This record gives sequence, structure tokens and C-alpha cells, in this order.
Amino acid sequence: MAEFDWTEKYEAVIGVEVHAELATRSKMFCSCAVVDATTAEPNIAVCPVCAGMPGVLPVVNQAAVELGVRLALALECEILPSSIFARKNYFYPDLPKGYQISQYEQPLARNGRLTILTSQGEKTVRIRRVHLEEDTGKLTHVTKDGENYSLIDLNRAGVPLLEIVTEPDLHSAEDVRAYAMALRNLLRYCEVNSGDMQKGVMRIEPNVSVRKRGSQQLGTRTEIKNLNSFRALERSVAYEIERQVKLLQAGQEVIQETRGWDEAQGKTVSQRSKEEAHDYRYFPEPDLPPLVIDPAWLEEIRLHLPELPVNRWRRFQSQYGLSAYDAEVLTNERIVADYFEQAVSQAPHLSPKTIANWICGEVFGLMNQAGTEFDPYLLPVDSLVELLSVLEEGAINQPTAKAILAELFGSDKRARQLIQEKGLQQVSDVNQIRQMVAQVLQENPEQVQTYLNGKETLQQWFFGQVMRLAAGKANPKVVQQVLQEHLDHLKTSAKR
Ligand code: ADP
Ligand code: MG
Ligand code: ZN
Repeated sequence: MAEFDWTEKYEAVIGVEVHAELATRSKMFCSCAVVDATTAEPNIAVCPVCAGMPGVLPVVNQAAVELGVRLALALECEILPSSIFARKNYFYPDLPKGYQISQYEQPLARNGRLTILTSQGEKTVRIRRVHLEEDTGKLTHVTKDGENYSLIDLNRAGVPLLEIVTEPDLHSAEDVRAYAMALRNLLRYCEVNSGDMQKGVMRIEPNVSVRKRGSQQLGTRTEIKNLNSFRALERSVAYEIERQVKLLQAGQEVIQETRGWDEAQGKTVSQRSKEEAHDYRYFPEPDLPPLVIDPAWLEEIRLHLPELPVNRWRRFQSQYGLSAYDAEVLTNERIVADYFEQAVSQAPHLSPKTIANWICGEVFGLMNQAGTEFDPYLLPVDSLVELLSVLEEGAINQPTAKAILAELFGSDKRARQLIQEKGLQQVSDVNQIRQMVAQVLQENPEQVQTYLNGKETLQQWFFGQVMRLAAGKANPKVVQQVLQEHLDHLKTSAKR
């Protein structure tokens, strides 16, 4: 809001609910396959259980419970020894049973926390609860030949979901984005799912309210739905905070409701008034016994937890002397962090900082150009290490190394072999470089005169000419040194 600085007077308070699909092979309470929502033919993975036929019984998917426990442990939650499935009743055509099996009073886990990284440093977000539930089907609304109708696809009905709810600990759009990214990283580290928001495997619903700064009471909140990217998430929260501040500033009230994000207009719009828990008439699911977590199994899951992103981020800084930023970029993805650590262990003669720079710069650049996620097969670790070793030995210079890297990428060639084949070895021989410098100065008498008249910046231009003459293969340090000697010599003779 450009007109006035509201941050002195008001404070935004935000809690977030995330629905994460659990990447199991079969559904939560039946043996139907979980199929890709964006590519599968509609209604190919449906049975009497997930279609809500009478007389059928649900059976809990153990793999889903394991993934849920794993994530809850990664969120440092307390796992309840016994949790209760509950029926959440409401009517909607995408819900064949007329109720969703969820968990209510006794969730799988509670009281966790997640550390997030923001421009103001580290923050801890408290996790209120983590519970298991099932997804609904999908409706597609169609208008064709002047008729409106809806199509229903039950492939997604009964797919296992984990709901992760925070305390209202976030205070800006940036906080919310940082939380969502940290949670996505965690979901991917724990192999709970791919974190792909476009595919809907991670759905984020921020609850936004605003209050007078210093007040201990929570303001009235709105909940935002339909967010399918981090950008939409951040923009919608910023918009919603501003909208509420304006209302309060004008002496009006915020109405508790669910609002949708309209990407095209860059606005949140009212969808429906907020339902209360009692509207759902929750009661314990009579067809399922309490979910009891065997302590030995729990310990086994704990034992196999990967090193978590935030711990790895801290360790990369202390162990390898990386900046907070580099450490973050490298540890966001487990596959990238593993790649970096393999390179470091294969190349004790190289500094970790150098390896980090190459991965975060050139290698990321090439992966981006190729339009893929980070894929180690496109550039095996030992291929990168060989190239960086040749560079370190001084056999090639930096620009040549970059050019070779681009050739290594996606091929099974090796750096030493390529350098041999193409005769790209760096020229470090001083006599050879002296000849080239002399040639450049001789061929450009006008520029030499301008230089002697005081335009010292021409030194860089001479340098460029020598490098061109050497087809980029000259050792830049030696060239600078020899060029300096020559120019100094010309200066002293010009004075005489
Ligand atoms: P539900 O949305 O199912 O009614 P809750 O009331 O438990 O569930 O709250 C859901 C989320 O909304 C939680 O993350 C909680 O921290 C957050 N929240 C609740 N009240 C407020 C509020 N006044 N302002 C901001 N966030 C809130
Ligand atoms: Mg809610
Ligand atoms: Zn089924």
C-alpha cells in the first residue's frame, strides 16, 4: 500500500493448512491404484469402496501411515500412540459417501515445528497437528451447446492425504512463501510426494487475519483456496492482508469466509461463508478401529529418516565453509545436496567453495536450459570432478572449462579426452605469450598511442585482443603479467 505505512499500526497473523498427497501405490482405504490425475483416463481407478457403495468396509493402507509418520517425525511432532478416524459429513457430488474419512479429535501427530529461512533470518513455525484423511473426487464444470453440466472423475477419491496445520505464527506473505517452500523441501526429502503444486499433490490454504499491533487477540480470518503456485500464494496473501487493513482502516469489519484467488485479476474473491466444525457433525468412524502405532515400528521409521534440510543447511556452512545462501541453494533438493557431497568426497584437492560455485552457476544453468529438474545422469559427478581438476591443474582456463562443460553435459565424453581431441590445452608458455602480446601491440599503433596519452582502460582491450589471438586458450594470469610488462616498458621509453 503506497499511501501509508500500515505496518506500524497493524500486524498480519497467518496460519497455514496444507494438504499433501501421500505417494503410495494404492488408495487410503481400498486397493485401487493411485493414478496421475493429469494424464489418466477418468474413472479407471474406482472400486465399490472408494465409490461409496453400501455394505463395503475400509481397510487402512499401512504405506500411507508410514509416510505420514515419517513426515510428522521430520516435523518434530509428538506421534500419538493411538489416533482415531472420524467421519466429516457434508454433501457434495465429488464425495460419493457423503462423508470424508478424516481424523479430528485425536490426530496422528501434534505439537511439531519447522524452521524456515526468511530475509530476516531463521524463524520457527509451530505445527499444531498432522492428520491422515482421504481425498475427494474431481469435478469438471462444462458449458457446451448452451448447456451447463458437470463431469465427475473418482480416480482421486480415496487417495491418501496428510493435512498439516500450523499455529498462526506467520506474519507476512514472505513468511508464508518461506514456510511453503520449507515444507515442500521436507516432503521431497522424506519422499512423501513430488511437491508438484501444478499436479495438486501439495495444496496450500493460508488463513489470513490482521490485528492492531500489540493486541493479543486474533482478528477475524479469511481462508484462501485455489492456489497452484508459490507466486499465487505470495501474491494472494499480500493482497488479502492489504484488503483487510483497508477495511479496518475504514472502520469496517472483516467477514469470516473462504476466498478464492483470481489469478487474472490479481485479487481474492469471496466464495462462501466459512463453515464451522459443528456443521460437519464429526463422529468416530465406526468401520475402523483406532490407529495404533507400534513403538518398535515408530523407532524404525525414525532410524531411517534422512538428514533434514535445515540440519544439512547448517552443516554445509560449518563443514564446508559455504555461505548461508550457497548452503541453502545446495540443500533445497536432496539430490543436489547429495551430488555436491559426492563431488567433494571425490575431489579432496578442490575447495568445496569452488565445487559449489560451479554447481550453483554453470551446472544449474545447463539443467535449466535443458528444461529439466536437476538430473545427475546428464552430468555424472566424476565427469564434473575431472573437468574441475583439469582446470585446477592450470591445463585449461576458465572460459575453456565452461565451453567444455557444455559439451560434457548430456554426453558420455570426458574432459581430458575432449581437451586432447580439440587441442584446447591452455598456453602458459611465457615466450609464446610474449610473441602474441608483441604482435597485438604492433598491429594497433593508434590504440597504443591513445593508451600512452593516458587512456589506461585500453589495457583491458589489449588483453581481449591477445586472448582472441590465442583462441581463448592463453593463461589469463600470464597474459596480464606479460602485457603489463610490455606496457610499462613502452611508457618508460615514451618519457625519454
Ligand atoms: P479450520 O480451518 O478447519 O476451522 P482451525 O480453526 O484449526 O481449522 O484453523 C486452521 C488454520 O487457521 C490454522 O493454521 C490456524 O493457525 C489458523 N488460524 C485460526 N485462526 C486464525 C486467525 N484468527 N488468524 C490467522 N490464522 C488463524
Ligand atoms: Mg480450514
Ligand atoms: Zn477403490
